[in-house]
Amino acid sequence: MHKKLFADANSDYGKARYVICGAPFDATSSFRLGSKFAPDEMRVASYNFETYSFFFDFDLDETDIHDAGNLEVADNIDETLTKLSIPANKFVEDGKIPIMLGGEHSLSYPFVEACKKKYPGLGFVVLDAHMDLREEFHGEKNSHACISRHVLHDLTKKYVSIGIRSGTREEYDYVRENKIRMFSSDDVFSMGIEKVVSEFRDYIKGPVYLSIDMDAIDPAYAPALGTPEPYGLTPRDVRTVISCLAPDIVGFDLVEIAPAYDSGGTAVLGAKLVRDFIAANAKASL
Ligand code: MN
Ligand code: MN
Repeated sequence: MHKKLFADANSDYGKARYVICGAPFDATSSFRLGSKFAPDEMRVASYNFETYSFFFDFDLDETDIHDAGNLEVADNIDETLTKLSIPANKFVEDGKIPIMLGGEHSLSYPFVEACKKKYPGLGFVVLDAHMDLREEFHGEKNSHACISRHVLHDLTKKYVSIGIRSGTREEYDYVRENKIRMFSSDDVFSMGIEKVVSEFRDYIKGPVYLSIDMDAIDPAYAPALGTPEPYGLTPRDVRTVISCLAPDIVGFDLVEIAPAYDSGGTAVLGAKLVRDFIAANAKASL
């Protein structure tokens, strides 16, 4: 059965605190395509879960969620980013918390930009296996492999990355030279995620955008990815980050699931993380 809207997204736009939207675009993906199908796969998977979360002691029925459907995209990334900036700005200006379901990671940009306009002190926390710090990749400035570089350069230096385990020598040099707060997946494994979060929580105070590139998670848990990378985070690590940052999060996305590469488990986990974010944020706002 195909469910058109994300489960429990029963609110109309005007009343909603959260606006879920799909961004079905994957044309710059360099290894596996198919993340454009992830928003609908996560919608279908979202019906697996109870509205009540015991972990957060919160029922999603008690908040207002709207699903704006899949946003219009173009054939190429530059035009797609321009198109997405219109609804992104509208959602944020209207006081909503946007929840963007990708699609590839480059699509985060207009949503982060919209939040930065509204919240000048915006911080950006990204979970990712990859640095994404290239200036361009395969001749494409707005490739999925460049998103962190553009956010850092254009939007905010208040930046933290977690789960990193892949980058070029130049990207690692860039991190050192610019003293970027980066926590590798091995840091998380050895320190524990709570300690990692406590190390940057004072730095990331106030409005924050949380971007989850699903490949931050180990491919054992999340095999259906555009660019899978072993030695990753656990789903619980990600839930802890969501839980700790939730009160300050003003924009959220979850990107890079390529549904064709598993039997549905990755989309189920993606949908769960989205629901956990809503529960955690809504609970904190009570
Ligand atoms: Mn990645
Ligand atoms: Mn990425």
